[in-house]
Amino acid sequence: MKHISAQTVSWCSIVLEGLFILFLYALLYANVQSIERMVGESREAHLPAIQDGQRTLLNLEYLRHSVALLRQAPNEEFLRGALTGIRALLAEVSFDRRVDGATLQDLNKPIRELSDSRRRALRLYARLLDDMHVFLAGYAGAGGSADAAAVAALWRECVNLTENSAPALRDRLRQMTDSVPAAAGRERLLGPEQRLLDTMSELHTEDMRSRQLNETILERLTSLRVAASDSAVKLIYGELASISQHAERIRQVVFHLCIGLTCGLVMLSWLLHRHIFRPIMQASGVLADILDGRSVTRYPASRIRELDSMIQALPLLRRVMLAKDARSSRLEKEQEQLKSMSFRDSLTGLSNRRALDMLLKGGVPEESVAILMFDIDLFKQYNDTLGHLAGDEALRRVGEIAMRHAGPNCTPFRYGGEEFVMIFQGDEARPDKVRAVARALIAMLENAGIPHPASPWGRLTVSVGLAFHSPGLTSLHETLDQADKALYRAKSRGRHRVEEAEDSDDA
Ligand code: GH3
Ligand code: MG
Ligand code: MG
Repeated sequence: MKHISAQTVSWCSIVLEGLFILFLYALLYANVQSIERMVGESREAHLPAIQDGQRTLLNLEYLRHSVALLRQAPNEEFLRGALTGIRALLAEVSFDRRVDGATLQDLNKPIRELSDSRRRALRLYARLLDDMHVFLAGYAGAGGSADAAAVAALWRECVNLTENSAPALRDRLRQMTDSVPAAAGRERLLGPEQRLLDTMSELHTEDMRSRQLNETILERLTSLRVAASDSAVKLIYGELASISQHAERIRQVVFHLCIGLTCGLVMLSWLLHRHIFRPIMQASGVLADILDGRSVTRYPASRIRELDSMIQALPLLRRVMLAKDARSSRLEKEQEQLKSMSFRDSLTGLSNRRALDMLLKGGVPEESVAILMFDIDLFKQYNDTLGHLAGDEALRRVGEIAMRHAGPNCTPFRYGGEEFVMIFQGDEARPDKVRAVARALIAMLENAGIPHPASPWGRLTVSVGLAFHSPGLTSLHETLDQADKALYRAKSRGRHRVEEAEDSDDA
């Protein structure tokens, strides 16, 4: 397996993440810049055109007003001024490419006709006033009886002549004519009246024509206006569509990049899990097994060099742990052996003086205790005559006999040299029982018949000292001391006998 160092992995992940983020920022920045540029360029390129469009719309609106003025021009001079204004506006509008030239051209004719019509209407109007003057003069000459108010009303209706007022004016004229008696020359009034009515009729016809022309002009102006406004709206919509298309492209790029980034991060996490975290968890489990002394069947592996080195050390650690466990259990066993050896006499196999001291340290016992101490008689001479090896053998046999006499509540000790101690507890410590044991011990040795050439009895004998401990009265040390004194007395009284402590409580 090819290894990579943890530092390399760490640096690679940092650099990769940094590059990812930098790339994302750069891309977003570049796209935002391009949108800003697009908006700026669009503004630069199309703002004048939009402004031109607005100006055209305004000019068309002025045209509409000017046409209205032309149609209502009160005199020739005003009419010429209005016509000049209209021509100037038409010339300006014609520079706008979005305005349909043919429709604009079509405006010239009706405008010219409207101007001619208005001019004719002005002339007819002047003639109407003249006719009115002639009629009124004739009327007055014929002795017309209409009052001043009626005459003034007639003038007023004539000056403000409209389509609606024409029938009323006609009726009033008829009334005035009829009010003149035939004898006073009514016939003479019929001519002026008829001329006035004809002029009024022509004026009305002219007015109708100018109205139709006006409607034609307004229709064409409206279609020009709609076309110009549509063109501006289309332009703005086109720009907006292009910008939103670009924004959509950016959204797509960012979306795919985010997906790519997420996949990259997931991949990185998976690699980290596979080559770092999983081996660490498995190694931790193996370590726990090693520390708990369980068997390990499989060790994990990692591509990360440092981690793999640590894992490689686990089998060695296991061997060290196993060796340590084996050594410590061996040491424990040896310690146990040493401990038991330190409390046991190697020659006889009985408990030794140290064990006896431990027992005595235990304090004052609550139950009855009896101590039997015995010593081999004239043992120095035994050694001297039979040798130390024979002496050792004799000691072993005495130990065996003492062991054989020890019941379940009795512990025999080799007190030192050729001296032995037996401690009885509970019911076994009863004086009669202990005395019986002492007698049996002496008898057993006699029966054993271990030859002692230097002894007056010809065989190995022992002297016994007994002491009984009353619960709560004395310490065991004192009882032992009493037993020792009793033994001494047995020695001094000739050996091969049993003596009891003088102050023993044998109750
Ligand atoms: P007594 O009847 O007054 O006890 O006389 P004794 O000779 O037995 O007593 P003494 O204290 O004079 O001598 C004890 C002897 O016991 C001396 C020593 O050589 C012998 N002895 C002590 N321990 C051992 C041992 O482990 N092996 C052998 N072979 N002899 C021992
Ligand atoms: Mg002795
Ligand atoms: Mg002795």
